[in-house]
Amino acid sequence: MATSLPVVEQAVAGGDGLGCHAGKAQLEAAARSAGKGEALDRYAQDYPKGPHDQPQSMCPAFGSLRVGLRMRRTATILSGSACCVYGLTFTSHFYGARRTVGYVPFNSETLVTGQLFEDIRDAVHAVADPALYDAVVITNLCVPTASGVPLQLLPKEINGVRIIGIDVPGFGVPTHAEAKDVLAGAMLKYARTEAELGPVAAPRGGKSEKPTITLLGEMFPADPVGIAMLLEPLGLAAGPVVPTREWRELYSALDCAAVAAIHPFYAASVREFEAAGRPIVGSAPVGLDGTAAWLESIGRVANVAADKIDAAKARILPAIKGALAKMPITGRITMSGYEGSELLVARLLVESGADVRYVGTACPKTRWSDPDREWLEARGVHVQFRASLEQDLAAMEEFMPDLAIGTTPVVQAAKERMIPALYFTNLISARPLMGPAGAGSLAQVINAAMGNTHRFETMRAFFDGVGTGHAAGVWETIPQDRPEFREHYKRHLAKLARQRKAEEMV
Ligand code: SF4
Repeated sequence: MATSLPVVEQAVAGGDGLGCHAGKAQLEAAARSAGKGEALDRYAQDYPKGPHDQPQSMCPAFGSLRVGLRMRRTATILSGSACCVYGLTFTSHFYGARRTVGYVPFNSETLVTGQLFEDIRDAVHAVADPALYDAVVITNLCVPTASGVPLQLLPKEINGVRIIGIDVPGFGVPTHAEAKDVLAGAMLKYARTEAELGPVAAPRGGKSEKPTITLLGEMFPADPVGIAMLLEPLGLAAGPVVPTREWRELYSALDCAAVAAIHPFYAASVREFEAAGRPIVGSAPVGLDGTAAWLESIGRVANVAADKIDAAKARILPAIKGALAKMPITGRITMSGYEGSELLVARLLVESGADVRYVGTACPKTRWSDPDREWLEARGVHVQFRASLEQDLAAMEEFMPDLAIGTTPVVQAAKERMIPALYFTNLISARPLMGPAGAGSLAQVINAAMGNTHRFETMRAFFDGVGTGHAAGVWETIPQDRPEFREHYKRHLAKLARQRKAEEMV
């Protein structure tokens, strides 16, 4: 097995903080020279970066890990540094995984000698019990990817259990959202090959009599039900949601009339659906305009007669109009998130009457996000793809909103400025967005949050006198600020970075 020392060995030792925080270029170079160039090139194409390097976000591997942990009869194993695996396992259980996360540990020796790959192969063989599992997912984190651990050499199946090996390094996959696509795409590819070779398992509830629309992207559980009701007058049915909850759903996801790319960043999954000859439709049935446009697009690609599409619109749109009018939102909002549904939420807010000025998303711009971006930009909303925390904060400072919706650090910064704020993932993503159920569903939480300004004033008065910045906390004597220490440490870090660069060039 190819290895790349000393960079990877340094990472194992952890002495210079290689990993999330530094040494990304070295790890990428090591991975390329260890034979991972093809995978990294594919990721670069599927998940384009820019305008800057990478949004601040959690470890990307959390996305693929979560997808695996949510699937029935699927075992997940991680191969990576113990600290990474600890963090990922902790976060998984924090979000209620209730499943075992497998781990193949390593040290410098097993990494360098190739023993790690042997250990992974043994672990996969030990776990692949067909009575328990349909699939085993094994994930290379940063260091094993950088050292070229060749998961592609694992057997494709053991006793009928599929073996799916993926590389999900932080230096190759920008966000945890896109890591979901890495695993979903790998599974779809496997399932597509199986379906091409012969008969495959039918859906648990039997095959739908109507043509189905596969829904791409994780969403609030009530949304697929709402979408099914929108599709019904078109003579269509809702198919599975990808990422799926079970292996056999992959076959029915592929066996669809069309795919609705509700979340627009699933590039690898789209590639598999296109290879299966399925048309893809962007955007989603959110609000009045969004639902009308989506019904038309879906109807068109599924060859539904124009009068049937018009009848469906006539049946559904008045209910959405009524729900939006009943629950208006008044106030200026900036928002940001990393789920992939940010543009859809913004559309709904605008249609509810909110003055939305800025939408930041950690996800990239894709052709599937174009309809939503164009709609928002036509209404004066600045849409920032691959938004950094600095851009999200700058937007909040510039527009001084009545409400900031965002990630944890944005919410924290907003509250420090006495701006009411809501956490996107927990409070906005956890609501229906689609069709009549989505229209008006956000208004209650948004209006309640905007009405809370007076509570911030009370809190400000209560905490008045407690220090901030370097003097945060309650002190007997106020700590003295020592900016020269910070400067000294900054120079020290820069020197270390220069040394690393020089060593790399030797
Ligand atoms: S695997 Fe995740 S936590 Fe570990 S170094 Fe890579 S990005 Fe960071």
